[in-house]
Amino acid sequence: QVKERGKGHWRFYQPAMNADLLARIQTDHAMRQGLQRGEFELHFQPRVDLRAGRVTACEALLRWHRPGAGLVMPGAFIGVAEETGLIGALGQWVLEQAVAQARRWLDEGVAGQVAINVSALQFEQPGFVQDVAAALQRHGLPPALLELELTESILIRDAEEALAKLQALAALGVELSLDDFGTGYSSLTYLKRFPLHRLKIDRSFVMALGEEAAAEAAIVAAIVQMGHALGMEVVAEGVEQPAQLRQLSRLGCDHYQGFLYARPLPASEVRAHLGRAVEEAAPPSA
Ligand code: C2E
Ligand code: MG
Ligand code: MG
Ligand code: MG
Repeated sequence: QVKERGKGHWRFYQPAMNADLLARIQTDHAMRQGLQRGEFELHFQPRVDLRAGRVTACEALLRWHRPGAGLVMPGAFIGVAEETGLIGALGQWVLEQAVAQARRWLDEGVAGQVAINVSALQFEQPGFVQDVAAALQRHGLPPALLELELTESILIRDAEEALAKLQALAALGVELSLDDFGTGYSSLTYLKRFPLHRLKIDRSFVMALGEEAAAEAAIVAAIVQMGHALGMEVVAEGVEQPAQLRQLSRLGCDHYQGFLYARPLPASEVRAHLGRAVEEAAPPSA
């Protein structure tokens, strides 16, 4: 295939490259349309506070009811949205929905913080701090009921700029956590300067816990100790086995999420979990 590109310029496309590019263009187009047609939905995964022995928060996770494709998970579309820039509008939608939902729960007397995932590209946008402030104000949500989950990739472009933004967000009163900790650049120098409330240990470390003599246990122990020494709480994600939970508990981990307690659930179903007391040794779904 040959296509004209300006005067006298010809470019040759390989069919395989075309197919992939075309799929991404179609996904981008369908996402833009889906955003307007209300095809996106937030599910919420409960987070258990081990010391309090109850569910004190939940994490909002994006789902897409793509026509003809069923329920699509973020792994299949967040990357495309980041590539095309749609992540700005998508992230803004998530922020708005999560804050509105947290406010509804507050009005209904349901206690629970809501955490949202923020892509590095969204975080980098000049108006991001104002967007967060505006959403909180629009719904009259106490800022501490919103948590932003960021990843170490926010450091790639300009670490000093990222630090200034984090400080502005912390000054608003929202809580900040570092997601997928241990998989990124682990810039410990910056870590101690970040106004973070929590570190979320990546699932890849949690998975190996409960097995005998897993090296991951030493890594998790080190993350917990370092987090605590720096004044942060530590959250384990992806807890599936009772043995993993027992070990996390022994290692002093503060919170956990995972299929062991509950999968991400629609708002109507997670509601009953918020504030609920949890017997550490016997989660309801175990
Ligand atoms: P994440 O923020 O690290 O979220 C945790 C992922 O692990 C979620 O997958 C969750 O469903 C899954 N998970 C939780 N507990 C368990 C468990 O016990 N076992 C297993 N195997 N998995 C568990 P999900 O919902 O597919 O999301 C994947 C990633 O997509 C998220 O990773 C996050 O990076 C991204 N994402 C999701 N929603 C949003 C969003 O609204 N905005 C942005 N920018 N990214 C999002
Ligand atoms: Mg997350
Ligand atoms: Mg994570
Ligand atoms: Mg993860």
